[in-house]
Amino acid sequence: MPYFEVTENVVVANATNRKISKINNAAQTIVISCLALPDSLVFVDCGVYLDFAEKFRKDMEKKFQRKTSHLILTHTHWDHILAMKIFKDVDIVVSKKGLASLKKNLKGYMSPEELLEYAEQYAAEDSVLANDIRNADLFLPNVSVKDEFRINSGEHEILFKVIGNHTAGSAHVYYPQEKTLCAGDNILECYPQLLNSNWKTMDLLHSWEEMDIEHVIPGHGKPITKEYITNILFYYDKLIAFLKEQIRHNTSLKNVLKHLELPEYFGTTQTDWHHACRPEANWLITGIEGWYKFLKKKEKESTKK
Ligand SMILES: [Zn+2]
Repeated sequence: MPYFEVTENVVVANATNRKISKINNAAQTIVISCLALPDSLVFVDCGVYLDFAEKFRKDMEKKFQRKTSHLILTHTHWDHILAMKIFKDVDIVVSKKGLASLKKNLKGYMSPEELLEYAEQYAAEDSVLANDIRNADLFLPNVSVKDEFRINSGEHEILFKVIGNHTAGSAHVYYPQEKTLCAGDNILECYPQLLNSNWKTMDLLHSWEEMDIEHVIPGHGKPITKEYITNILFYYDKLIAFLKEQIRHNTSLKNVLKHLELPEYFGTTQTDWHHACRPEANWLITGIEGWYKFLKKKEKESTKK
């Protein structure tokens, strides 16, 4: 499995070197991070593959000669949490809203019965994954946070902050001494951005741009640098200006999508690029449609006034 040494005290991994799956599912691209404090290790998200989560934890404890104190969950979607039993012995941190949605989902799509069915979808493609979904042992994290939570160790500090957007309870994890931000699914590297809460999304990206960050750990894909955030903002700025112009000219959505001047998304040339984690989806198009409809509605509202 590939480990990426982001800084001296930040190592991340994902399960992308498993037998390449046609479906390139979210469980293979999700990132697990290890943030080393002077006296303990803090992990961010744990993925789905049990052997992978366990090996990564053991390897990091050996490398840093430190014990694990916390697992932090950026949000409670299945692909980020299913292997949580590997961290049963440490504090598990989640936002209050994330905890509420997990409580609900443990009776819904993440109930033992539903997980058995969910596993079947992957059985032919990836038997290890199917098995790990069947054997997931989910429980409620013991630390739930409304806004902010800090883990301190000497001069070092890890900051968990609830930021919403991707899910209402999504959080980021900031390690200032290492200038590193774990963004969760509010930033994706191997997929298009799922950020479609419009202006709120732009505000979030701008707030990250102002932070003292060098390294960004996305929810899925490879570690990136702060420049990636600037690139996303640049793309959205261009897209929004283009869409506003087309809406003024009454161009239909269908023609907008075919338009030769439709801004190109910078991420599509990346080596691990996929249009979505599901073969039938194209998140790039979905995002453009979302902005088109949103801006058209705003335009209508402003002409009514
Ligand atoms: Zn995810």
